[in-house]
Amino acid sequence: MAEIRNCKECGRLFQYTGISKICPRCQKKDEEDFKVVREYIYENEGATLTEVSEETGVDEDKILRFLREGRLEIVGENSALILECERCGKPIRTGRFCDACAHELQAGLKSGFEKVDRLKSNVDKQKEKMYTAERKKRR
Ligand SMILES: [Zn+2]
Ligand SMILES: [Zn+2]
Repeated sequence: MAEIRNCKECGRLFQYTGISKICPRCQKKDEEDFKVVREYIYENEGATLTEVSEETGVDEDKILRFLREGRLEIVGENSALILECERCGKPIRTGRFCDACAHELQAGLKSGFEKVDRLKSNVDKQKEKMYTAERKKRR
């Protein structure tokens, strides 16, 4: 089923296919920008985000988006192009979190919730335990 949506990039209406949130025109531009940025980064190891943006004419936000999406990876050991882990602020090369945080987030998601639980009243905790037990029984 075709759906008409507003392009996230330019706001124009386009036929949403369920894949991209931007119109085909912006998508094409996006691809071109991506190629230019990627090439620039590979040829200029250590370039800062501002430099890359100025030299390629691509918005810093867009470059960051490429990195966050994991499409683009920072090359070079001492690259000044820094992407920060959204959790601890440690420099990372691609994606949203550093390896340690990504691991912790997966493993520690449960313990994180437990900490929040402790702040709640004990009654709440009891209820939750019972509810979980109920659910387990039903399975
Ligand atoms: Zn568009
Ligand atoms: Zn981190």
